[in-house]
Amino acid sequence: MNKQDISSIKQLLSSKKKIVIVPHKNPDGDAIGSTLGLYHYLLKGNHQVNVLVPNDYPTFLKWIPGNDTILKHDSQTKKCDTLIEEADIIFTLDFNAFHRTGSMESVLTKSKALKIMIDHHQAPDDYATYMFSDVTMSSTCEMVYHFIDMLGDTSLIDTNISTCLYVGIMTDTGSFRFLSTTSKTHQIVAQLIEKGANNTEIHNNIYDTNSYERLQLLGCALSNLKVIPESKTAYITLSQEELYRYDYKKGDTEGVVNYALSLKDTVLAAIFIEDKQEGIIKISLRSKGNFSVNELSRAHFSGGGHTNAAGGKSHLSMEDTVAKFISILPSYNKALNDE
Ligand code: 5GP
Ligand code: MN
Repeated sequence: MNKQDISSIKQLLSSKKKIVIVPHKNPDGDAIGSTLGLYHYLLKGNHQVNVLVPNDYPTFLKWIPGNDTILKHDSQTKKCDTLIEEADIIFTLDFNAFHRTGSMESVLTKSKALKIMIDHHQAPDDYATYMFSDVTMSSTCEMVYHFIDMLGDTSLIDTNISTCLYVGIMTDTGSFRFLSTTSKTHQIVAQLIEKGANNTEIHNNIYDTNSYERLQLLGCALSNLKVIPESKTAYITLSQEELYRYDYKKGDTEGVVNYALSLKDTVLAAIFIEDKQEGIIKISLRSKGNFSVNELSRAHFSGGGHTNAAGGKSHLSMEDTVAKFISILPSYNKALNDE
């Protein structure tokens, strides 16, 4: 995003606009934090602003300031479609291809509104009028901070905005430890704390609100952990039956894959989660160092994401999906053992 783009956007936002903000399907902490952070900022410009999410998200995100104003496309389709059709500007946050919004893809594709993308995933599609796309960024929340900064408005950042943005930086960096965390990230986080984000309370709300069943499900996942030492790989499976047994709720499996990656000498970690309703095995991949799970997922599991964190899916059975994963590993053995 160059100076010209910024001054055009500034000009655009100088009068009241109808604005819609959309994150990806199955929104995570960065998706909800960035959309609501931007929402609170744009409200200060006196715009009509709505955050529309494709579908529901985990309960541990449902305390974030502005949460009650979010509209869900899968249950409030007509209202959401009308807002999109009437919008002057649509901000697309934390994704870069319309298919990542699931059922919102067609209405977004048809929309004539001006589009602004703010995103840190690889390989952006070419739909946005203004594109702020940077794969080196820790999170979309960090980019929203930069966006507000480029518009010269950091003085407008209040407790609500800083709380929202802190959430996404914290969750997407694994609490400030992934490679994407820079000194700049920490400087921004320091600003957010100064402007009102209560770091202890936010950590508590996100990480220390587990149900008993969620911890039992984690126990089940850990007992299913398998290791393939020659490929420096560890993986976990969770069947639909196991999810039912532990009263699975959206978000309960978030972060479980990181336990596989935490195993000493592991470079690649995967979790395979059966979703009978969608008829797929949902796959989350994580890696250490330069090994790109984005490339592995794009090549074999119809997905993508970042170098060290990517998602994907398989239409095969659990057994066949795991067999496929195991069968492709030897072709990556050299890269995995070079890490
Ligand atoms: P997760 O494993 O937590 O679902 O996803 C890890 C990262 O990859 C997140 O940043 C997520 O947005 C991204 N991601 C997940 N699935 C896909 C996908 O199908 N395509 C792309 N491009 N990114 C994905
Ligand atoms: Mn993100």
